[in-house]
Amino acid sequence: MVDFSLSDTERDIRDWVRNFVHRELMPLEQRVLERERRGERGLEKEETEQLREKARQAGFWGVQTPEEYGGMGLSAVMTALVEVELGRTFVPFTFGGSADNILYHGNEEQRQRYLIPTIEGTRKSCFAITEPDAGSDAKNIRTTARKEGSEWVIDGEKTFITGGIDADFAMVFAVTDKEKGADGGVTCFLVDRDMGWTSEPIDIMGEWDRQPAALTFDGVRVPEENVLGEIGGGFALAMQWIGRGRYLLPARALGGCERMVEMATEYAWSRKTFGAPIADRQAIQWMIADSAVDIEALRWLVLQAAWQADQGMDSRHAQSIAKLHGGVRANEIVDRVMQIHGGMGYTRELPIERWYRDLRLLRIFEGTDEIQRRTLARNLLKGNASVRGVLG
Ligand SMILES: Cc1cc2nc3c(=O)[nH]c(=O)nc-3n(C[C@H](O)[C@H](O)[C@H](O)COP(=O)(O)OP(=O)(O)OC[C@H]3O[C@@H](n4cnc5c(N)ncnc54)[C@H](O)[C@@H]3O)c2cc1C
Repeated sequence: MVDFSLSDTERDIRDWVRNFVHRELMPLEQRVLERERRGERGLEKEETEQLREKARQAGFWGVQTPEEYGGMGLSAVMTALVEVELGRTFVPFTFGGSADNILYHGNEEQRQRYLIPTIEGTRKSCFAITEPDAGSDAKNIRTTARKEGSEWVIDGEKTFITGGIDADFAMVFAVTDKEKGADGGVTCFLVDRDMGWTSEPIDIMGEWDRQPAALTFDGVRVPEENVLGEIGGGFALAMQWIGRGRYLLPARALGGCERMVEMATEYAWSRKTFGAPIADRQAIQWMIADSAVDIEALRWLVLQAAWQADQGMDSRHAQSIAKLHGGVRANEIVDRVMQIHGGMGYTRELPIERWYRDLRLLRIFEGTDEIQRRTLARNLLKGNASVRGVLG
């Protein structure tokens, strides 16, 4: 049986987030736009904390964090629905109480020192694999870690590391066996900032409350107990981090697209040219119709990928499809919405140009469009996936 409905509990959770976004976040939109125009953060850290605390008081905390760690342990489908609702505003916000999935692989001591403080929000992490000469080709990383007594010594450079400016520790991927490379020769280290790495901010096109940074490791000494997982098991951990929920990025974009198309339909009725609202023009109607089709297709691609993850199936192919479709279509939609708004769409009075800049990233990070296509084509050509989809 194929069933597209939500249970009462699922609907309640979705509606709670919907109301939170309406009540708490949307009223901040004008303030966020004005601050960002002045080059300031959209929300002060304290404001974000207050919002998170309000949500926590209502029991909304640790969306995907297992219940044994005090979280809600929501399913992938529910998490996707939460992201869609949050995506309906550009106010930069995520609920508190979550930690990187790979930190759960730590031993008991590492969980106490890294995982739990990250969930509690008292320590901030960053994930560092990309290097100046290794982005899509992550197997080509050159950062090295060599053993000296009971310590590892890390040398190398990482780049584009989200949150690298204010992170308290980094999950750093380094080559520990050059011969083996990514096949058993890369190890993940938990490296505190006070062990000696430095960071430089990187200016980017979009508004980003966790600005990316270049990190430098110059003979940084890390105790051997800070290896996360197995020595040589780092590349698999990195892939697990990246694959933790590729459906989540397009889910957030989907919420933004819904909101923008609603703005476009409203504007199409209010804006008159040549004696009639532009809503009467077929050129405008088609842009709205095409966007609605793209949004609907994206919704089901996202939810299907999440559903596969919930079923314990290998959802990577479906997630790549959702990520690729989301990146390409969301960028087309924001372009259409800007077109419908004419000159106003290009101003910083409205949030459309902001969404335009932000959504462009979706086609680049966590696997570019081209890398998703490469993965999809390989799966199909090798017979590991079928165009008949999950129903067979
Ligand atoms: C804002 C931002 C935040 C980021 N956050 C993080 C982070 O937290 N941690 C982290 O480790 N990294 C992070 N990244 C890095 C990001 O994952 C890489 O930028 C991305 O993987 C692409 O790598 P690259 O920039 O080196 O591009 P390249 O790999 O150099 O690619 C350049 C172009 O060539 C294309 N290309 C590459 N290989 C192929 C191929 N085989 N076939 C066809 N086309 C190909 C690419 O699709 C792209 O169009 C972030 C990047 C940005 C911009």
